[in-house]
Amino acid sequence: MIQFNKSRILYLFLFVLLSGLPIPGAAQSSENSSNTGPALGPWDWGHIRIVRSNDNIEFLNRLHATVNQNGGPIIFPKNRETGQYITDAEEFNQLLTAAREKVARFHAEGMYVIAYTTMALAGESPTYEDRPKPEEISLNEAFNTPGLWETYQEYFGPKPAEGPNKWARHTHDMRYSSYRFRHPNAPRTGGRFEMFGCHDNPSYVQYFKGVIKLIAAGGHDGAYIDWTKVHGGTCYCEHSKKAFRKYLQDKVPADYLRERYGLSDVSQVEPPIDNTMALWREWLQFRSWSLTDYQRQIREEARKINPNFLLSGNINGGAYGNMAYRNGDDMELMGTVEDFFYSEIQSGLRSVPRTENGTKISNSGPLKFLAAAAKQKPVWMYCIQPSHPKPIPNEKALFNLIKLNIGEAFANHNTFSVVRERFGDPISPFVHNGAEQIYAFFKENEPNLIGAKLSANVGIFCSLNQFYSDEFSYFNPASRVLSDNGIAHVMTVERDFTVEELNKYEVIVLPYVPLMSDFQIDELKKFVQNGGGLVVMGLSSLKDEYGRRRGNLGLSEILGFDLQNTPITMTQKEIGSGRVVFIPFNVLPIGKGDTRRSPLPNDQMMYGQGKFPERIKDAFETLPKAVEWAANDRLSAKMSAPYTVEFTTMEQKEKNLQLIHLVNYNMNLDGEVTPARRVRIRFRVPKGKEVSKLTFGSPLTDTAEISYKTKGQYIEIKIPSFEVYGLATVYFK
Ligand SMILES: [Zn+2]
Repeated sequence: MIQFNKSRILYLFLFVLLSGLPIPGAAQSSENSSNTGPALGPWDWGHIRIVRSNDNIEFLNRLHATVNQNGGPIIFPKNRETGQYITDAEEFNQLLTAAREKVARFHAEGMYVIAYTTMALAGESPTYEDRPKPEEISLNEAFNTPGLWETYQEYFGPKPAEGPNKWARHTHDMRYSSYRFRHPNAPRTGGRFEMFGCHDNPSYVQYFKGVIKLIAAGGHDGAYIDWTKVHGGTCYCEHSKKAFRKYLQDKVPADYLRERYGLSDVSQVEPPIDNTMALWREWLQFRSWSLTDYQRQIREEARKINPNFLLSGNINGGAYGNMAYRNGDDMELMGTVEDFFYSEIQSGLRSVPRTENGTKISNSGPLKFLAAAAKQKPVWMYCIQPSHPKPIPNEKALFNLIKLNIGEAFANHNTFSVVRERFGDPISPFVHNGAEQIYAFFKENEPNLIGAKLSANVGIFCSLNQFYSDEFSYFNPASRVLSDNGIAHVMTVERDFTVEELNKYEVIVLPYVPLMSDFQIDELKKFVQNGGGLVVMGLSSLKDEYGRRRGNLGLSEILGFDLQNTPITMTQKEIGSGRVVFIPFNVLPIGKGDTRRSPLPNDQMMYGQGKFPERIKDAFETLPKAVEWAANDRLSAKMSAPYTVEFTTMEQKEKNLQLIHLVNYNMNLDGEVTPARRVRIRFRVPKGKEVSKLTFGSPLTDTAEISYKTKGQYIEIKIPSFEVYGLATVYFK
């Protein structure tokens, strides 16, 4: 959401629009642009190195950029000299042509160009202290200018029933959510603000379809849409209420509504305002569904102009279960619609990866979750420079810190957005030089990175469904302790929970998953009966998928005990060649009542620093041992190293190889790195494969073959000492 961009200021002042023009850019633009230079690379994680500069192509090339985030829609522009709205088709077309020409300059260098746009509606109140009003939204002026909207109906359609003063989201007690962005170094003055359009309002959606068409017509390869969230405590406008009733009618089984809430007619229901009220779960799910469906609609609209148009919303910050709960940001759902994820996981200094006073600060858990939720499409982890807007005490530290940020992201199938040339003020050259060095290494390895996917035979089951029923599931903390203990693992999301998916794993971890369907329980039983390992934390499977309590644990048969006899110490049970471990788990309490924020725990301390509240500490200490026992000596990879080193494994099927990413977090805020030494990996050679060679390289050392020892199904690798990031590649015959 933090954006500062000259072109945006230009739009505000350009505000809007145009007439029944043909869309010259449309069909032609993508062809034109792809013909103007080297082909753009594949739209794949392994190809993506995002750098942002408005026009400094030399800078972008120096940093090995393949993606530039730049520009945006030209909405109801004004002539800069006269200050009058442009209503002349020719004059507007010149603006579009200029936009396409600008994009073409980047295409000629082999770069994708992704536009910035936002669900926010800019406005201005008299002073910084005033509470913004929807009548102050700037777009009202364009909307109310006679004939202007009609001039641009090629994009925006006929003038909608409601104007911008009716578009903003509000709470049940009529408060409008708003935001006043000020550059970190700028004074907190002036009345500029943003409010947020409600995607349940058909007039706003119609307008936004025009916005996205303007971006596509401007030649951009795609767009990142900021502020895609249902702000805490919203939206209770009449459109949202109506859409909620329709959702209940169309998407929620009538039997269930009758049985659970005694509801047989949903046509008059009012949405709940907190989690003590009926339909709370359905209300939260509706918000997520509706926000995702909105993105589906606008992507479809853009693709009428450019069939390859790429779209992402902003899935916001770190506590991802909570984001689904509070803000309608359900990454599992969004992963089915978006072409990439844009994540603001780095919120200031607390999540800058490093080691401080012996504590490793890591984001690898949520990054793995995002990769899984995105179906391993690209994920952009957003940060301007490490620590922004809080200044890093020692600027020189940025050289190594940016490498650690980028290395951490890549190791977990994410990429790093945005290394900028400037953010108001110029960004430190230490950031650019560090990025240049590590991006050069990823460029060199690009042929092996493209198409590679996170892969390991321990899977942590991630379910956002828990959160909608006021249950917190601990997939990120579970990932943290497995990483700390050198156990290769991946995340798998509920959406992908199929027999085929299960077959990829030797061990499945249920990190407290109380809501489970009969299907899921049956499949897990079969999984164990067929020799799989299952690690169950707490009273997983106590409820059905709607959150209704079962009489007994759904998994009681394979656990070997009933709910009434739940053990208070870890239990292990063998079923044929399958293994089941139960870890007692004393969950953190969930609040009731005021849910404008979130009553759920924030797990950042747990996954970010490995610090666990007393009541769940023992359970997480037990987890790595439990996973190893359940794996029965079949882990796909195990690392022995200082706990400040993490690793991940990826499979690249077409190239018949596996990647082993190594990240050394042992760096302080002065940028001093303690190199990683004595790192050993025991790597299980997949059935039917034979290793042909093994290489290792890093941004500081050339890639070269290294030796390994073969022991049965395993090879043992001694990783050479490295600084921030290293990459081992296992080639098969
Ligand atoms: Zn609304």
